[in-house]
Amino acid sequence: MPGTELFGAEERKEIEDVLSTGIMFRFNHDAQRNNIWKAKDFEEEAKKITKAKYALAVSNGSAAIMAALAASGIGTGDEVICPPFTYIATIEAVLLLGALPVFAEIDETLCLSASGIKAAITPKTKAVCLVHMCGGNANMDEIMAVIKEHNLILVEDAGQAFAASYKGIATGCFGKAGAYSFDFFKIATAGEGGILVTNDETTFKLADNYCDHGHDHVGSNRGMENHPVIGFNFRISELHAAVGAAQTRKVPFIRESNLKIKKALQTQLSKTEGISFSKLGDDNGDSGTFLNILMPSTEIARRTVDEMNKAGVGGFNYWFTNMYHFINQWDHIKQLKTASKLAIQVLGAPQDYNNLSIPKTQDVVGRLISFGIRCTWTEDEVKALATKISDCVVKAMQPEKV
Ligand SMILES: *Cc1c(COP(=O)(O)O)cnc(C)c1O
Repeated sequence: MPGTELFGAEERKEIEDVLSTGIMFRFNHDAQRNNIWKAKDFEEEAKKITKAKYALAVSNGSAAIMAALAASGIGTGDEVICPPFTYIATIEAVLLLGALPVFAEIDETLCLSASGIKAAITPKTKAVCLVHMCGGNANMDEIMAVIKEHNLILVEDAGQAFAASYKGIATGCFGKAGAYSFDFFKIATAGEGGILVTNDETTFKLADNYCDHGHDHVGSNRGMENHPVIGFNFRISELHAAVGAAQTRKVPFIRESNLKIKKALQTQLSKTEGISFSKLGDDNGDSGTFLNILMPSTEIARRTVDEMNKAGVGGFNYWFTNMYHFINQWDHIKQLKTASKLAIQVLGAPQDYNNLSIPKTQDVVGRLISFGIRCTWTEDEVKALATKISDCVVKAMQPEKV
């Protein structure tokens, strides 16, 4: 959680600015706010990193995905190809919009593969919600070719991949709209916050309306603004945006530091038999937030996790058994347990979620162990961690040999 490690005077100053006027609302109040616009600052900082034409700061990353899908025209009955390995917010956003998730295979980039997407396409497929997992990037050239060939809409959940890129283009900026999260566990945090990006003006305006009860944000009399579409409240507060802006300014430093640490860990760990690493669509575009190791088998990964728990090695995720990141534990989605009736219960699920055949995904996620990189780690701490991981892997590999 790099952002949280660097919480200091810069963030405090931004918050003080907001408190000095008391205007915690991002719109209007021009006379009282002393020209302090933190949501706008946050958006400008996000644009600097992503080079997106338009950025909209919202209440959280989940709202950003939902708005990105909605503003891209995804709604009731539309089939959306999704990965079975993602934070569950991706799937929730699709479902809550009335759309129907279709699960497809990922590969060793930890993201949907072009062949996985292709195999999941039906005449009803409207969009692909691509998730750039664990700080990395998908194989965009191959994926974009499938998107174009089949005339699909691409929406990107780059919730974990702010500051990642592919061949110089930011993850999140390939499709019609993209989303980033700035929750407490991401490369930079606003406490709670999200950023929606797009290069399309119409999509941006629609998202802007959608995230604030339809408001068109024209003029200075909020109560008399037009409401071109029905929306909801996904606004960010000025206090959260203030923190988000300060943190986003630190992202280039965080990324550089993360990548140095990741490289050192990989160099040391690659000497240990059994350890390999997840792949990147573009090796130069990693955000460095996670070290993702791949074990030879799920069995060895499980034993490595057991050894690390015994040895007190913390700070890692074994997603295969995680309740929120992998489909094997999503019983509530498989059984369509909802608080109130959703479109999928009326229209029917597009796949038998209880009997999905996703062997490649099962294999990759079963073998994957991810370590959150802390940008403040010293060289000694990095060496000590790599040694501990290696020791655990050596022990976990043993039973295979006897
Ligand atoms: C964190 C995350 C989200 C959700 O973001 P919040 O800000 O917590 O709502 C969505 N998708 C992915 C891939 C994430 O990692």
